[in-house]
Amino acid sequence: MKPVLVIGGGMSGVTTTVEIAEVGKEVILIEKEPYLGGNVVKFNNYFPKLCPPTCGLEINFKRIKQNPRINYFTSTEVQEISGEKGNFKVKLKTSPQYIKNNCTACGKCAEVCPIEMPNEFNYGFTKTKAAYLPHEMAFPYKYHINDEYCTKEACNKCVEACKYNAIDLSAKEEIKEIEVSSVVVATGWENYDASKIDNLSYSTSKNIITNVEFERFIASNGVGENKLLRPSDNTEPKKIAFVQCAGSRDENHLPYCSAVCCTASLKHAINIQELYPKAEIKIFYIDMRVAGRNEDFLTKAQAKENIELVKGKVGKITEIENNNLILEAEDILSGKKIKYEANMAILATGIVPSDINLDLNKDQNHFITDLQTNGIIPVACSRKPMDVSTSVKDATAAALKAIQE
Ligand SMILES: Cc1cc2nc3c(=O)[nH]c(=O)nc-3n(C[C@H](O)[C@H](O)[C@H](O)COP(=O)(O)OP(=O)(O)OC[C@H]3O[C@@H](n4cnc5c(N)ncnc54)[C@H](O)[C@@H]3O)c2cc1C
Repeated sequence: MKPVLVIGGGMSGVTTTVEIAEVGKEVILIEKEPYLGGNVVKFNNYFPKLCPPTCGLEINFKRIKQNPRINYFTSTEVQEISGEKGNFKVKLKTSPQYIKNNCTACGKCAEVCPIEMPNEFNYGFTKTKAAYLPHEMAFPYKYHINDEYCTKEACNKCVEACKYNAIDLSAKEEIKEIEVSSVVVATGWENYDASKIDNLSYSTSKNIITNVEFERFIASNGVGENKLLRPSDNTEPKKIAFVQCAGSRDENHLPYCSAVCCTASLKHAINIQELYPKAEIKIFYIDMRVAGRNEDFLTKAQAKENIELVKGKVGKITEIENNNLILEAEDILSGKKIKYEANMAILATGIVPSDINLDLNKDQNHFITDLQTNGIIPVACSRKPMDVSTSVKDATAAALKAIQE
């Protein structure tokens, strides 16, 4: 029996992979980044229990390590798929693996590396070396060399410093051809490009960031290392505003609801309160959409003295002299126009499906539809926005479909 191919190593792809392997089938998992875990690994913590990203992922990484039926390849993408249900031929492209698997993550390469580059894990708000550990809980736990920034043999310092002979700067891109019975597409989501929402001034004001970036701002191992610092002057903001539906449910941007942003902002507000109990937080919303168990979050946030929920869409944000921001909205409940001055604003930008270069049925918003008749199974956020627990359930269902193909 041919293996199943899973494309995307986020929470859903990893779950599908272990579920398939544990019923006795071979699985090949590919991930375009140098590490597995997807968007969740960058979070500070995740609702509903506010556990760290290690919770849930760590156990799955252990299941991957222990299962001989799983082969996974990072820094890898699909180049071509041909064939049909039960009998696909797939061409995979792996970018050069300058650091080999015998890397012990001792860190000597990063110590001697003379090149600094934007740290992708912190969305470019901090710097890292061109030889770097992608993040503290990276799986696989090994260093990586950035192809674009590293000057390779012209420098060679990391090769000289590595006593395990784990670095090969002459490594080349690899193409592999595999045969699989079915394909699970778990390519997940990306954040909507906030620079497209002109009236919210994301591109022109440093102190306006997105909800996804905020995860790295509030994380204890993130941008401010246990402090929330606003980007313009590294001071701790005292007045923080959240702008819900930034581009979402808006015909000019994303006509749909991303399902997770309201609960994410409530989580963020509670995170801030835990760090700074006196901070003043306002969440501007159209409708608070929190389903199921996440309702508890709403109740918890409403009970906090310094968190105020304002029913009103923010129409405009303007930066003033001290880099503070003026948010303009209409308070629907009182009918009054509001101008609120904040030190920092977080835009709850929605999620869009990751782009994948395959000929698949997609809906008008580019999510992959369930209507594939060809042994290709979309899962979780590649098919519609959903939270982690729903993604995990969807991933288990996808595993069941994949082993029946
Ligand atoms: C601001 C924000 C906060 C959130 N907070 C929470 C929370 O607290 N709790 C909660 O339950 N949910 C939360 N969510 C939702 C959560 O992020 C998703 O439910 C979860 O990420 C879904 O996992 P996934 O595997 O489908 O997608 P992803 O996490 O996006 O993983 C997809 C993976 O596929 C890879 N990939 C993409 N394209 C390719 C390709 N062509 N080839 C190979 N690999 C590819 C990506 O690199 C990535 O690793 C939040 C969402 C947002 C926007």
